[in-house]
Amino acid sequence: MIVVRSITELDVPRRGVVGLVPTMGALHVGHEALFAAARAESDVLVATLFVNAAQFGETNDLAAYPRDFERDEAIARAAGVDLLFAPEHDEMYPPGFATWVEPGGVALGLEGAARPGHFRGVATVCLKLFNLVRPQLAWFGRKDAQQVAVLKQLVRDLNLDVEIRVVPTVRGEDGLALSSRNERLSHDERSRALAIPRALATGDREQALAILRAAGVEPDYVEVADFDGPTLAVAARVGDVRLIDNVPLRGAS
Ligand code: AMP
Repeated sequence: MIVVRSITELDVPRRGVVGLVPTMGALHVGHEALFAAARAESDVLVATLFVNAAQFGETNDLAAYPRDFERDEAIARAAGVDLLFAPEHDEMYPPGFATWVEPGGVALGLEGAARPGHFRGVATVCLKLFNLVRPQLAWFGRKDAQQVAVLKQLVRDLNLDVEIRVVPTVRGEDGLALSSRNERLSHDERSRALAIPRALATGDREQALAILRAAGVEPDYVEVADFDGPTLAVAARVGDVRLIDNVPLRGAS
């Protein structure tokens, strides 16, 4: 695996299908599922590791984001990644950087409303990564269903020459969707967080709300939305940690 820490050194081999898996590091089995899916369809598999400050609203969420480059590098290598691209913040957003992608439409509700600027940061960094790596295929997790919908809209609206592939949400044995933020849950908070997958399993907004409230988990939202098909989506705070999760509703592809 080639490790590239600078845009100036990035030289993606152009043979066959170039596949891209963008991540913010703190890699877990959910990311590994993306790598496995991407490995199977790519001749050259590029993973990016970049904690994109532009998509964080709360500075303490950014500061608390787990970072362990050596561990991530080992996981990416074991997953068969060919090239790991991990640029510095100042190279991606140098002084004078002033051009942003402002997604509307599917980016406006739920996470877009709860985290102003979040999808502008996501869309901008993904467009930059698509331009830098020039993949034919790029993989994203269904765990962030609205993000998938926003990126498919970005590709459509800006005529990008990349196809978005989606990998189902990977969960722990207890049902909690894997997330880098789970590391910040205490034992007790993790038990309470299990109300989220239980709520989603009902497939019903009112029942889901009742389950969350009974568990003392106050949701930011519980909504049915069309994210690449009808989806029941939840965001909730457990202690200091804000978690999101969703399930495709019956009949969805
Ligand atoms: P992140 O590093 O959190 O930005 O995530 C990088 C990619 O991994 C995104 O496309 C996420 O949707 C995806 N991802 C994160 N957690 C999971 C999970 N539990 N199952 C499937 N995909 C995931």
